[in-house]
Amino acid sequence: MKEWTDQRIPIWVPPLPGEALDSWLEAYARRLRVTTHVFMAFVGLRGSRPSRMTERLSGSEREILSQVTGLSPQELAAMTLEPYEGLTVTFKSGQDGMNRPPTWRYYGTHSRFCPACLDDTRGRWLLAWRQPWSFACLRHRRLLLERCPACEQFVRAQGTRVGGPSKPAHCTRGRHRTEGCRRVLVACGFSLAQSPAQILPASGLVLQAQQHVDALLQDRFSQPGSARTQLHDMYSLGWRSLAGLATDLGSAPRVVHQVLEETGGAMPIQTHAQDATDVRSIAIGTALARLADPRPTPADPKLFEWILKTSDQLSTAQDGSSPSSRATAWRRASPHLSGYALARLDADLTLIARVRYGTAAPRPYWRSLTQDQIRRRAASLPDKLWPSWTMRLLTPALANGRSADRFRRAASTLLMLPGTRLDYGPATALLDHKPNAKARRMLDSYPQDVLASVIAQLAWAIDEQGAPIDYARRRRLFREDTIRLDLPALNTISTKLGWDSEPARTRLIRWHLLDLLLGSSPESVQDKITTHHRFRLHMPRPLKDFLHDQAEANLERFGIDEPVRWEPPDDWATVDTWPGFDSDNIDHGLASHLAAAGFSEALLVRELGLTTTHFRLYCESLGITITPSPKPARRPTGRTRGKGVPRVGPLAPDQLHDRYIKQKMTTAQIGRLAGCSGSTVSQALREAGISTPQRRPNGVFERTIDRDWLETEYRIKGRSAPDIARELGLHKNPVIKLIKKYEIPRNTPGLHSNPFAPLDIQLSPTMAAVNRTPNCVQRLRHLIQLPGQPHVAAAAKALGLRDSVLRYQINAIEKTTGFPVITWRTSPLAATAPGRELLAEAELLLLLLDRHSSQTVTGEPQPGRRSAH
Ligand SMILES: [Zn+2]
Ligand SMILES: [Zn+2]
Repeated sequence: MKEWTDQRIPIWVPPLPGEALDSWLEAYARRLRVTTHVFMAFVGLRGSRPSRMTERLSGSEREILSQVTGLSPQELAAMTLEPYEGLTVTFKSGQDGMNRPPTWRYYGTHSRFCPACLDDTRGRWLLAWRQPWSFACLRHRRLLLERCPACEQFVRAQGTRVGGPSKPAHCTRGRHRTEGCRRVLVACGFSLAQSPAQILPASGLVLQAQQHVDALLQDRFSQPGSARTQLHDMYSLGWRSLAGLATDLGSAPRVVHQVLEETGGAMPIQTHAQDATDVRSIAIGTALARLADPRPTPADPKLFEWILKTSDQLSTAQDGSSPSSRATAWRRASPHLSGYALARLDADLTLIARVRYGTAAPRPYWRSLTQDQIRRRAASLPDKLWPSWTMRLLTPALANGRSADRFRRAASTLLMLPGTRLDYGPATALLDHKPNAKARRMLDSYPQDVLASVIAQLAWAIDEQGAPIDYARRRRLFREDTIRLDLPALNTISTKLGWDSEPARTRLIRWHLLDLLLGSSPESVQDKITTHHRFRLHMPRPLKDFLHDQAEANLERFGIDEPVRWEPPDDWATVDTWPGFDSDNIDHGLASHLAAAGFSEALLVRELGLTTTHFRLYCESLGITITPSPKPARRPTGRTRGKGVPRVGPLAPDQLHDRYIKQKMTTAQIGRLAGCSGSTVSQALREAGISTPQRRPNGVFERTIDRDWLETEYRIKGRSAPDIARELGLHKNPVIKLIKKYEIPRNTPGLHSNPFAPLDIQLSPTMAAVNRTPNCVQRLRHLIQLPGQPHVAAAAKALGLRDSVLRYQINAIEKTTGFPVITWRTSPLAATAPGRELLAEAELLLLLLDRHSSQTVTGEPQPGRRSAH
């Protein structure tokens, strides 16, 4: 309160806590023994009506009242409805008066009252009584009143102009009386404190509802958004439960009757849609709304269900039952509440509608997006669904490169739908996709529950949490002709990797740079999509890092400060079971360790229990690089040409024989004749069974066969030179020469070539010794059959061997291992403890070997062949 000044009224009447401005002004005037009309004129506010001032004070009103009463402008504003703007009242902008409030149709222009409170305070009125949400007095457990029982008019605190100062707690509304030949307006004068009011049961549902609402209104400063949303939902449920009473009282759950009972037993007056303004209707609606509020779960699920059901009946009758009309009916409710209302339709909806309205999500959620929000969502989405999410969502049935790509595009498009009226086609346009009917059709065969749920969850999470990449901008800025690739730096890296500069590879690298920036596969005309996938998978680490730096440089060029790549965190959408593979179930440590150790893709795929496509998505998501198996790159080719189509012309076997053997033409010369490359000629020679002696220029092998690779194959994997030569499609001599030239220490003579070398798998020391012995594959095959056989003779019989031969074979293995593998004396036969480990390893190796040879058509080394040393 301000200092005492000359302008202040020399008598001080303090306001009561929570008192409305008009009530306080009326009390002040009474204290000064004048009417408020006179009082207002006296303080310099002639023409201002206290009832209207209690809605919102004008600047000058606040100023003047503050001067004459000593209350601060803030204290004065707190006695008006102004702080509730947008929450419970709506002011007309720039002028006096109010528009329809956000909730209910009670404008707060008159005041409700508790007779007992008026009695206690000798006629002081609370501001809360002008709120639509006030319907009960918690202190006196009364339903509030709003009309004078005598004159049946709405009451208010402000007195009349005539008849002198008002009497506290008496009806001030005028009524006309004829005096002689004049009609005069006199106050009704009924003692409002004596009005009979409905008594509410202590801790009954109505009083609980009032407490709940009061707490929400208290929260309005700490959490304005949340209070507004909750009041909105209460209103949505409140008026619908009133409408439900009129629609189908018969099926109403017990609690509805209890609330009616508490408020006097009769039906509420206003049940038509959203029109309720009277205190009793609002009390009933609010009490029911509180019990039905679905967040976090409805206190009374049956009531919630009944409200949704009757509301559906009502809106179907009015607007039809389409999901869009339903969505419109709930558009003012919170996204969660409207989501629940729409979720009732889920079973009847198409995939597109389920995605659009999010009806399949575990916590239904729906709101209508603005154009701006739609644009923001589109900007957050890459052309193709993020790899880790694709990995979880892609079913094994769709796990092949092309289907996976289609699926990724389709899923990314679907992410545009939640909260919009877009259809699939227009959504593709927003992402600058070409419409792809195959992708769209593919979705029909996909498990729709999961897709509809996950897409909706992800879309809403992206809207709420935001994505750190603006793909719309990237799509605008980066195209194949606008991205920059530092070619000199690329050349340096290529040289280090031992690559010569090939335009085709540079094209691939540009393509991958664009892919990194756009999260998409740009339409590729010249190369097969699998070429790109394989290139990405085997991209050497230095090149991968280089591309990442290049992507950053391209972003920097446009002043864009974003991560190059980003994926929504795993917990942005949940389902019970993923149709694809949950990367949570994959041992990341093991995966990157195996990848770094140079294990082949096929082996990793098996080890991790994935499909190749899922494995590649996994690698893409985590940036794992698989060391390329040298075979496909170095072996001239393992494929046979166009199954069964015979070579013709210069490549026909007889002509080849003639030119190559008799005329001693080179492969290059024959290639020129045939119009193909020299290596094709070599291939044709091999197909024709013509051996090709080494005719290469000096030093060609140093350039094409890497020393590290050769040492690994020869020394570490223990393969013989002929074995390696066979893989490279060469004679053994150049390989032996190269081993000498590289000064790789020679293998101990007498050791056999490791038959498991093609598997790229790390062997235990014991197995590494066993596999260099003669005929070891066959011996191991026999060995693993032994446990469980009754005795050696039976085992030998089962294997079609004499038992002495079997014993000899096993003894030979045990001589190498240095420990017994099988306990001979038990029946049935069993493995020893170290034997069990060896057998398990042998079993795995043999299995892998069988698969490997079934996958490879030609050029496989024969296991156990004697080396040349
Ligand atoms: Zn009271
Ligand atoms: Zn009256």
